[in-house]
Amino acid sequence: MSIDVSGVSKRFGDFVALDDVSVSLPTGQLTALLGPSGGGKSTLLRIIAGLDSADEGSVSIEGTDATKLPPQKRNVGFVFQHYAVFKHMTVAKNVAFGLEIRKRPKAEIAAKVDELLRLVHLQQFAHRLPSQLSGGQRQRMALARALAVEPKVLLLDEPFGALDAKVRKELRDWLRRLHDEVHVTTVFVTHDQEEALEVADEIVVINDGRVEQVGTPDELYDAPASDFVMSFLGE
Ligand code: ADP
Ligand code: MG
Repeated sequence: MSIDVSGVSKRFGDFVALDDVSVSLPTGQLTALLGPSGGGKSTLLRIIAGLDSADEGSVSIEGTDATKLPPQKRNVGFVFQHYAVFKHMTVAKNVAFGLEIRKRPKAEIAAKVDELLRLVHLQQFAHRLPSQLSGGQRQRMALARALAVEPKVLLLDEPFGALDAKVRKELRDWLRRLHDEVHVTTVFVTHDQEEALEVADEIVVINDGRVEQVGTPDELYDAPASDFVMSFLGE
């Protein structure tokens, strides 16, 4: 589903975390919110998710004001850096969780879990505990879990931030491949220029609570809109 952020501002006390942010993300696009730490990326993602509210402006998902949708109707899946996995549940149970609380039929759950574990190549680990997975495998499980409820929007906040460089690279490719397979509208937050340039269809550069530039990786690279973007990409 398309996401339209229009004139969103957010203050924490006197501090302006987001200042009149507008951006339109088309259906099925893989978008990176890129920028330095403290720029307002997570705040914007939380507002898109409905986990936090804007002081001004609006967010609509597929043309509907998202603030008017109850959480279960928003169809949003999340993956965070330190995703709360259920340590006492097997990998399969973790992936099944969102379907079980929705009381889906058992056969449907089993088929879906099987399909998703295949998609992230974890089928042989279905009966392990998360502690018996590597960090990269755990985040692949988190991706499968987020996709289980067939979200219309997938939001990821620095999903690979805690992992080492080699695994990050691997997961980057995973995210791209998964996206190409399920085509869910995806927004992921990163402060890593290379990650954004390699994975995203379109990049929204955010600094100091403002949108510096929106463009494809090529557009950003060929025509950075400001000195800030130029130097940030060059880092
Ligand atoms: P980013 O994800 O780009 O690193 P954030 O959106 O987390 O940035 O934060 C933007 C700014 O807003 C930061 O300066 C942060 O300290 C501040 N901020 C975020 N959340 C809160 C909060 N709940 N209370 C006060 N300040 C906050
Ligand atoms: Mg953040």
